Amino acid sequence: MEKTILHLDMNSFFASVEQAANPNLLGKPIAVGGGIKKGSVVAACSIEAKAFGVKNAMSTWKARKLCPHLIVVIGDMTKYIYISKIITKMMVDYTDLVEVFSIDEAFMDITKTQDRFGGAIELAKDIKRRIKERFKLTCSIGIGPNKLIAKLAGELQKPDGLVVLREKDLPTKIKDVQVKELCGVGRKTEEYLRLLGVRTIGNLNSYPREKLVKSFGMAYGEQLWQMGQCHGASEVRPYFYETQAKSIGHSYTLPKLTSNTEEINGYLLRLSEQVGRRLRRENYKGNVVCASIGTGDDKTSSHQKKIKDFINDGYQIFKVAKSLLAITNKIRFVSVSVSGLLHQLDQISLFSHVENQKKVLAAVDKVNDRFGEFTIERAAIMSTGLQGKTGMVPPKLYGLRNFKMELRGIEPLTSRMQI
Ligand SMILES: [Mg+2]
Repeated sequence: MEKTILHLDMNSFFASVEQAANPNLLGKPIAVGGGIKKGSVVAACSIEAKAFGVKNAMSTWKARKLCPHLIVVIGDMTKYIYISKIITKMMVDYTDLVEVFSIDEAFMDITKTQDRFGGAIELAKDIKRRIKERFKLTCSIGIGPNKLIAKLAGELQKPDGLVVLREKDLPTKIKDVQVKELCGVGRKTEEYLRLLGVRTIGNLNSYPREKLVKSFGMAYGEQLWQMGQCHGASEVRPYFYETQAKSIGHSYTLPKLTSNTEEINGYLLRLSEQVGRRLRRENYKGNVVCASIGTGDDKTSSHQKKIKDFINDGYQIFKVAKSLLAITNKIRFVSVSVSGLLHQLDQISLFSHVENQKKVLAAVDKVNDRFGEFTIERAAIMSTGLQGKTGMVPPKLYGLRNFKMELRGIEPLTSRMQI
C-alpha cells in the first residue's frame, strides 16, 4: 500500500522566530548568527535578506557587503528549541509516528490517521494554521509516498508551501526538477553529475545504474540510482525507540605491558572517543559504561556502571570508564563499551541543553568524516598541551581557521539523512 509521508520544514526558522518575537524586525532583512565579530557566520536569514543574496553559512562580513542595512541578531537557541518542541507536540496530535529530523524539520507518517482529519491536505492545512496562529510562523509541507519524495515536495514551494506528490504523478511532475533538490545530493555530486550530463531528476531516472555505480562507487552510485527511481525509505521512526544493538565498544592491545596510568588513560580516552563517535554516527546514546583491563593472557577484569543520563560524548564516557578502573598491575589490554542503548533521532537535540557541546562534537565528527579518524582529537590524547577552550586540538591538516569556523556552527542545522 502506498504510504503517505508528510515532511514539515519551518521557513527561515531562526530568523522568522526573531521577527515574530520583535515586530520591529518584521519585513526587514535580518540575519541570525553569532554577531558581527570577525569570523561570525549567518546561521539563518530572513526572506528579505535572502533577496539580497544573503545565504546561510555565509560570513556576516560578506552578508553585510551584499546587504548593507542587514540587521544582525544574536541567535538564542533556547527560544528555538522551545518553539520546536511545541511544534513537535502539535504534530503528535495527528500521528504518533513523528520523526524529528532537525530543529526545524520533521517527518510524519499519516497513512493510517489522515482520514480522521479529512485527508492529507486538510491535515497539512490544519498544522500550518495552528503554527501560524500560535507563533506567526510559516512552514513548507511536502507530502509523498516516501521520505525522499516528501522532502523534495517541500522544497518545491517556499515559503508557506503545500505540495503533494503521489506515486503516479512522479514521472511528469518532477522530471524537470534539478537533481540538487534531492536530499543527499550535495554540491560536489551535483557538479559531477552535470559533467555526466545529468541535471534533472528525469536525466537521473534514465541514467544507467552501472554507470552511476562506476562513477560514484557501489554504495553511493546505487543510492543515486535509487533516488533517480524515486525510491526512498518510508519508515518514520518516532524520536526514541528501543534498539536492537546491545552495545558498542572498542578494545586495544598495548604494544607492551605497562602500569603507567597516564599512558593507560590516554588509550582509555582514545577508545572512549571512538565509542562516542560510533554511537553518534549510528545515532545511539547509552547509559551503561563498561571498562576492562587485562594482562593480555586471559586475565581480564571488567567493571560497569549504570549512569543517570544517556550519553554519546567520548569524554563523558571516558570519565565514567576511568572511575571504574584501578590500575595496580602492569596491563596490556584496555576496552571500553557502552550499552543500555537508545536509538535517538534528535540529531540537533530538541531535548537537551547541551547544544553547544553537541555542535562541537558534530563539527569534530564532520572533520573526521572528511579526513579520517582522529584528525581532530581531544587535547589530552596528544601530549603537546595545545588544549584549547573546547578541549579539542585543531589538526594541522585541517587548519585552525576552518576548524574555528566549524565550531562556530556553520550549518548548525544540517544533519545526515538515511533515505
Ligand atoms: Mg527550514
